[in-house]
Amino acid sequence: MTNLRIPGPTPCPDVVLKEMGRQMINHRGPEFKKVLFDVTDKLKQVFKTKNDVFVLTGSGTGGLEAAVVNSFSPGDKVLSVSIGVFGDRFAAIAKEFGADVIDLKYDWGKAADAGEIREALNKEPAIKAVLVTHNETSTGVTNDLAGISSVVKESGKLLVVDAISSLGSIELPIDKWQCDVVVTGSQKGWMVPPGLTMVSVSQQAWQANAEATMPRFYWDFAKAKSYIEKGQTPWTPAVSILFALDVALDMIIKKGIDTIIAHQAHIAQMTRDGVKALGLSLFADEKYASNTVTSIAAPDGLDVIKMLKILREEHDTVLGGGQQHMAGKIFRIGHLGWITEEDINMVLKSLTIALPQAGVEIGD
Ligand SMILES: *Cc1c(COP(=O)(O)O)cnc(C)c1O
Repeated sequence: MTNLRIPGPTPCPDVVLKEMGRQMINHRGPEFKKVLFDVTDKLKQVFKTKNDVFVLTGSGTGGLEAAVVNSFSPGDKVLSVSIGVFGDRFAAIAKEFGADVIDLKYDWGKAADAGEIREALNKEPAIKAVLVTHNETSTGVTNDLAGISSVVKESGKLLVVDAISSLGSIELPIDKWQCDVVVTGSQKGWMVPPGLTMVSVSQQAWQANAEATMPRFYWDFAKAKSYIEKGQTPWTPAVSILFALDVALDMIIKKGIDTIIAHQAHIAQMTRDGVKALGLSLFADEKYASNTVTSIAAPDGLDVIKMLKILREEHDTVLGGGQQHMAGKIFRIGHLGWITEEDINMVLKSLTIALPQAGVEIGD
């Protein structure tokens, strides 16, 4: 089996894949109702929230768009805290729909500073909400969301979180950290194929929703809420992926979400220690290094594209490259979802062979 170690899509266990092959059912019938209710209840348990949770058909970016259009009106001031590609994308969505976005950007590889977020909020009291990425997949950095939340909540603003590559893998107790809208995606830490985005919506987010006038049709939370009361979704959902998510959540709950979070932290530490032992340097500020994706700075002389090709063709191992201006400058090992120590040991072993072939001597 290919050692697919990109930060999504991630490998799926056989029991999950088997569910994908089930015969179709009526998405307006009792059998689907049970699946939707079960999945929603299990998600609330794993998300540690009593807020509404919706399973929407679409990729994570669709969930981000849903979060924006359901919370704001054109002209609303929002503070965008961006530490990389996905933070920039969140801001771009808000701009596209007419929000007045104030950008707080950080150098890639760094985490956001809660004190600076407080300053930005104090400087512009009309800001309604803060958009933030919990785990920036493009750089392998995890923001201190608890610290950011406490600053945002000092002033009672709405906290809208892209947790696409963290929820289910990195600690994020939604209610305890008072996150108003939180978005994740099935193909990241959930051991499920791409196609679903799961979002939670707080009471304060519903208050914002009641006033929000950005255009929305497919992504309307109010429609999702009125349908889930009947055990349905407004539009035909990705039924097969819901079947898959149902059994993946059983596996997660059986193991225990806290056990999984600790396992991901252990695997991430092992990965960081392993790449450093090869003489490589981490790209992310290690204090904030992500437990779902490790980014590695390409040393002088390393041809990243060539290395990725060797790994793919000769070791059946797929790693991620750098995105946008980081292309060729970093590479990334995804270790979210279904993963064992052996998977990482195999990556490290393959790197030992591929690195010298792609231009760098190792271990010096
Ligand atoms: C993967 C990812 C996205 C984009 O999700 P898609 O499912 O590709 O639309 C957005 N934000 C973060 C942090 C991600 O990891």
